[in-house]
Amino acid sequence: MDVEAKDYNSLNLSEEQEEKMINEAFQDVLDGYLRSNHRKKVEIIKRAYEFAKNAHKGIRRRSGEPYILHPIAVAKIVSQEIGLGSTSICSALLHDVVEDTEYTVEDIEINFGKKIASIVDGLTKISGGIFGDKASAQAENFRKLLLTMADDIRVILIKMADRLHNMRTLSSMLPNKQYKIAGETLYIYAPLAHRLGLFAIKTELEDLSFKYEHPDTYKDIKDKIVESEKKRNSQYTDFSTPVKAKLDEMGLKYTINARVKSAYSIWKKMETKHIPFEEVYDLYAVRIVFDCDADANEKQICWNIYSAITDIYKLHPTRTRDWVSTPKTNGYRALHLTVMGPDGNWVEVQIRSRKMDDIAERGFAAHWKYKIGESDEESELESWLKTITDILKEPKPNAMDFLDTIKLNLFATEIFVFTPKGDLITFPKNATVLDVAYELHTELGSHCIAGKVNHRLVPISQKLQSGDQVEILTSETQKPTPEWLNFVVTAKAKSKLEQALRKERKKIVDKGEAAVMAAIEENNLTDANRFITKLMGVYNFHTREDLFFAVGDNKVALTDSVVKSTVKKQNQGIFTRIWPFTGKKKDVDETQSAETITPDKINKKEIYVLRSEGGVQNYKTASCCNPIPGDDVVGYVDDNEEVIVHKMDCEVAMRIKSSFGNRLVATKWLESPLQTSFLATISVKGIDRMGILQELIHEISINMSINIRKLDIEARDGVFDCLLDLRVSDARIVDRLCRQIKKIKDVTYAARIK
Ligand code: MN
Repeated sequence: MDVEAKDYNSLNLSEEQEEKMINEAFQDVLDGYLRSNHRKKVEIIKRAYEFAKNAHKGIRRRSGEPYILHPIAVAKIVSQEIGLGSTSICSALLHDVVEDTEYTVEDIEINFGKKIASIVDGLTKISGGIFGDKASAQAENFRKLLLTMADDIRVILIKMADRLHNMRTLSSMLPNKQYKIAGETLYIYAPLAHRLGLFAIKTELEDLSFKYEHPDTYKDIKDKIVESEKKRNSQYTDFSTPVKAKLDEMGLKYTINARVKSAYSIWKKMETKHIPFEEVYDLYAVRIVFDCDADANEKQICWNIYSAITDIYKLHPTRTRDWVSTPKTNGYRALHLTVMGPDGNWVEVQIRSRKMDDIAERGFAAHWKYKIGESDEESELESWLKTITDILKEPKPNAMDFLDTIKLNLFATEIFVFTPKGDLITFPKNATVLDVAYELHTELGSHCIAGKVNHRLVPISQKLQSGDQVEILTSETQKPTPEWLNFVVTAKAKSKLEQALRKERKKIVDKGEAAVMAAIEENNLTDANRFITKLMGVYNFHTREDLFFAVGDNKVALTDSVVKSTVKKQNQGIFTRIWPFTGKKKDVDETQSAETITPDKINKKEIYVLRSEGGVQNYKTASCCNPIPGDDVVGYVDDNEEVIVHKMDCEVAMRIKSSFGNRLVATKWLESPLQTSFLATISVKGIDRMGILQELIHEISINMSINIRKLDIEARDGVFDCLLDLRVSDARIVDRLCRQIKKIKDVTYAARIK
């Protein structure tokens, strides 16, 4: 299906032509399957296809395509890009049948058996319909996703294929739907694909999200990759020629090529390092994939190649990564090194065997569990799934927190820690002694008093380094405190600790409540509620629980004089603390009522135009990311029905996109000469010398006529660090200014910051 979805209607196919096209698309899936190593269970696949085709008959996608082309495409991804077999192909063909047609899971079970029915059921549960208005709908969704995943990982792999096809055909959706789907993909599916080792899919998902969120930047980077190809090719030839000669001399069978970074990862690098495209030096990596016999020593060959390369080029001392001896949690294995190329630039080289390469590109799924006759091995992936299941068994009240905890674990880079017995445990970066204690056992965590790292005594908050050997010291009398939350990192430790703290707190609250009730009885007070409310007022507590806790914790003593003075107290000053939290404050300017946006209006508008004329704006900018005209932005309708504008890549907006997708509006800045100005902050760094500040200010206020609102400068040890708040009319001016400032002698850095 090379046809762009949105062009489908213009093809004007006759019914027979359409039928032929559908059958060809399916035949393509079947042919691919027959070429694979799986058992040839063609009959059931054909039946699943006929069943799905019949069920979706007459239904079309938004693009005009017959609906069945979507399940066929998902089945193709599942088979050819992920490498799964007939059960998964059938489930993919049937994945939308229960949700979108009158057939039930029972119908699937009768026709295709229990296994396929349960996978289709899992897929139905985690698909649309639950992306409702509820704040944590998406998080709940994610939880379900993982729950079913622990059940049968094929559910999540097929869901991944479904999402990939939806992203590939996203152009036919409405813009606000596009942002929601793209945001969700970047926030949830791409990290998950990474975690599962589906590297090619992860990269494509990121690139597609990027394309829809920042279309201009995306195109710009793509163009530049093409423009720079010639130069890159000649650099690569210079680099690889001596390497090839050496590898040939060694008698190896191998392939070598240059892998260009994805547009998304180039952009990420430009953003985090504040550098233009031209300064991204590691635009490509050199990959060497060697063939060897099944029983050959892969590790030895990797290091032989390493040694050959470092004989030719100078090695970067700190950038060697040995994922052959210690594979990543997602199963990735390779030996990476960085060397100085002939043109003086650092070049990353990745060395892998054919098998390692296969796993890296297609993920664990290709080699794991579904190979006929192979026994399950307790892989690292499985133990990761187990952690997730552990947390899911004790879900926290707020599912959104849960999502954050998971996300933290998905993104963090890992460290490896040894137990005294020599077991190797993987932790996210910044994990502490306490994390290790909780990982080993809940009781060990709750009674942890200190640790021994490499045989030296350290506090429980000690951050660990990869390779540390950690021993836990405990004490019977130790109790967890809320401060501990500041230094646990893993989701498991957090959830265990919070559970212990809730238990501890509950004990104190109960004790406090008993004490208050005893005081009421002792003083023969008739209205207990009235007394408690007054007492809350006296000590400024918001909830009864807080009051009871303070009493139970001996922070508030119920002496006779306290009780007496409380009883006498008028009902005053109590509600001033309570009301602002419940009352809804509306500070909407009534004169702007004509511009007020209501949700029903938005649904009809595809693009919401952001205007600012004569100092009046029909939107508010979000304080978290301070977008200014020219930035890629997205609008969000808040509880007051105002449009709040966020930068497309703002962390807060990312979160909103995945949980309040239906409140999003596509936005566009209106170019207007009357525009008022916006606040932007830039950071300038450089060598401290006489007169440099003067030159800087001259450039900003005289040459560029930009108004400086605030200036903070700090000079230390011969360098300066300066923060400037500026009033500007759009983002392009700030970019231009930064370029100008960088031209000033001794300035090493100038960039806009959040
Ligand atoms: Mn689908």
